[in-house]
Amino acid sequence: MTTHPQQFASDNYAGICPEAWAAMAEANSGHVPAYGEDPWTQRAADAFRTLFETECEVFFAFNGTAANSLALAALCQSYHSVICSATAHVETDECGAPEFFSNGSKLLVAPGSNGKLTPEAVRAVATGRSDIHFPKPRAVTITQPTETGQVYTLEEIRALSAVCRELGLHLHMDGARFANACASLGCSPAEMTWKSGVDVLCFGGTKNGMGVGEAILFFDHALAEDFDYRCKQAGQLASKMRFLAAPWVGLLQDGAWLRNGRHANECAQRLLRQISGLPGVEPMFPVEANAVFLRAPEPLLDGLRQRGWRFYTFIGGGARFMFAWDADPAQVDALAADLRDLARTRAAA
Ligand SMILES: *Cc1c(COP(=O)(O)O)cnc(C)c1O
Repeated sequence: MTTHPQQFASDNYAGICPEAWAAMAEANSGHVPAYGEDPWTQRAADAFRTLFETECEVFFAFNGTAANSLALAALCQSYHSVICSATAHVETDECGAPEFFSNGSKLLVAPGSNGKLTPEAVRAVATGRSDIHFPKPRAVTITQPTETGQVYTLEEIRALSAVCRELGLHLHMDGARFANACASLGCSPAEMTWKSGVDVLCFGGTKNGMGVGEAILFFDHALAEDFDYRCKQAGQLASKMRFLAAPWVGLLQDGAWLRNGRHANECAQRLLRQISGLPGVEPMFPVEANAVFLRAPEPLLDGLRQRGWRFYTFIGGGARFMFAWDADPAQVDALAADLRDLARTRAAA
């Protein structure tokens, strides 16, 4: 089988990290009860409660679209609405699943420029209409870190949750890259979530080094009522649940989740350092997690493609580079060298 050289087009190009893999292998012995009645599922849920320092309700889903959609559906009736940013994954990349699984709760895009929601924008959307003809705002969702790699500070999260409390809105966090955000802020998972007023978190396992799987954590027990039925109805109840749960034990039990996130973030900084000041090459957003978006002339991007680099340009036409738990620093340096070479050749021409 051919293996491909590392690319940074997506953090989902990476494989499974050794800790998750080892736990899967360990779980693969003998028979245990199905549908989550097994010791691995118990251990994984307990590992989350230990990590988050609270007795939260924990559920497992196969992917982030399902985790987000079902979590939001749990917060809303069909006539409610969910406030999000224009670049939110739930808005741009989930094919209407949040609306589908909630039987129609509408996503309301709040104005804003950099992908982060602000308390002012939430208030404006939530209070703009209160008549019977408009879907009643019931939840706010933020992505941490954002789709373009910015991290909400604890102060920003607290300011948002304060507005949510005041206006009777639930706060959901899409943490597809939650580990990267924790590594970036250096705060505890508890501080970033329930201690700052987050009601529900979707914690990404896939981008953190698992093969498959996301966890949904409810910090408000009442909101988790019947959530197991919701998962089952949506086709998200794994019969051999131990294999969805065990890799979490591997990731959480001695800190691999955070090491993975930190390494990915460091690789983003490593690229950024080496390309700063290059003629024509401009970071599009502050680099605060594992993403680097670069604006560069089209011929330069073409040059990169000709040298075999793959990347997406779906946000603002810039090149997106995402670093995974296993990003190879030498390969990061090779990308930086090609960028430098192409930029300087162009500048000299
Ligand atoms: C990757 C990602 C998800 C999950 O996507 P799936 O493909 O459904 O697993 C959710 N939110 C954000 C911000 C993501 O980047």
